[in-house]
Amino acid sequence: MAGLSAAWLLSRKGFRVTVFEKGANPGLAAHSRDFSNFATNFEGQIIGDVPSRMFNASLWPAVTKLYQDAGVDFAPVDHQQTFLNTAKDVRLKIGLPYDTVAILKNTFNPITRKLLSDLRAFQKIGLDALQDGSAEAITFGEFLKTAVPKRSSSDFLNDFLLPALTSTVFTCPTIDLLRYPCDVVLDSLDKVSNGGQRLMRTVNGSQDAAKRLLFDVDRFLCGTNVESISLRDESVLVHANGDSHEFDQLIVATQANHASDLVASELPEAAALLAKFRYVDVPVVVHTDSSTMPNDKGDWGTFNFRSSESGASSCTVWMNRFHDRWPAAEDVFHTIFPNRKIDSAAVVSSANMQRPVVDSNTKSLHADLEMLHLKNRRIWFAGSYATGGVPLLESAVQSSHSVVRHITSQLAKATT
Ligand SMILES: Cc1cc2nc3c(=O)[nH]c(=O)nc-3n(C[C@H](O)[C@H](O)[C@H](O)COP(=O)(O)OP(=O)(O)OC[C@H]3O[C@@H](n4cnc5c(N)ncnc54)[C@H](O)[C@@H]3O)c2cc1C
Repeated sequence: MAGLSAAWLLSRKGFRVTVFEKGANPGLAAHSRDFSNFATNFEGQIIGDVPSRMFNASLWPAVTKLYQDAGVDFAPVDHQQTFLNTAKDVRLKIGLPYDTVAILKNTFNPITRKLLSDLRAFQKIGLDALQDGSAEAITFGEFLKTAVPKRSSSDFLNDFLLPALTSTVFTCPTIDLLRYPCDVVLDSLDKVSNGGQRLMRTVNGSQDAAKRLLFDVDRFLCGTNVESISLRDESVLVHANGDSHEFDQLIVATQANHASDLVASELPEAAALLAKFRYVDVPVVVHTDSSTMPNDKGDWGTFNFRSSESGASSCTVWMNRFHDRWPAAEDVFHTIFPNRKIDSAAVVSSANMQRPVVDSNTKSLHADLEMLHLKNRRIWFAGSYATGGVPLLESAVQSSHSVVRHITSQLAKATT
């Protein structure tokens, strides 16, 4: 997303842009899959994104604007969530945002009622902490220990709050979520689940979005692995697939850990800084095993969370529901952080993705990156890791705006 959005912004300003992508498709679309073999009596392709990506105008203003400018259609996601405990009992079926919630299941069950009253209390305390500034200097783990009322049930934390956070917006193990700066967690929670606008999905999938963002780009070279770069006095050389390409400016829009390897010999200071951004593995399995879902199909939500005694909670996305009017006849799912065995015969594909995690050190890494950008003249770094907040499509787009500002202001200075 960072690379595509930088390419879009620069080509609209009249720059001649070349995009290198090591995968077969533009980055954003790399995880679009064809599910046509799950349909009967349907001609044509059935594209589904894995993982399914969401955004709203509250937490993702730059993504929303980018998609509007590029003519990418988007529509509300059916955001029903079902929460299961370790024994696979349905604790709650609920829709977003949680404040105007339609509670669909178990309203008379005392455990569900307790979860809801704990949720209300948590929302109030979270909002107060954001407003009075007390969330600024502590981690989310410290906040849970000190500020959350002792009367909150462990069910609320273990079967609801932590699963909802670790396997959606943050996609990271609980231990890493607890190290996040508290204000970052509470702010995003507020913008997604409390007062935020409706969550959206692209109507025609990531492939279409990527195609539109590349519309004015001079050259898009897919299947082109950039192996190294070299800095000259007046240019940058990109070495890929045995060829060298010369440019005035280069934006490295890969993960920070990959960018670090790419610039290790030319920019050792930048490489050392980039290596400090932390990543965690996020396993994602695409499958047709409905044992990952609630026992009763009437309880299925679009997003189905299941807590675990140890480790991360899983989230199983019902793809037929996520993609409105998806013509696949068979139910297809993808599970993020699978915590129960998935029938191997039902597995369509599996992948290990990576996601940056934020902690109390990340802010100073962003300040150092900004210093580096002020010193460097030709090589820039963009990606979801590179700006504040949760690493999402939004921070990727925000970082591309920042890099484009650096490039244009530098060129403006050079011409005056
Ligand atoms: C399970 C999961 C669910 C998520 N859900 C959401 C969501 O709902 N909403 C949301 O906003 N975000 C979501 N995210 C996060 C979002 O996907 C990322 O923040 C975003 O993709 C990061 O974009 P990026 O441009 O920084 O980097 P990347 O997506 O990592 O792009 C880097 C690109 O560089 C290419 N590349 C790397 N090395 C080279 C090389 N040497 N030569 C050429 N090309 C190279 C890669 O192939 C890739 O295409 C989710 C993430 C995960 C793991």
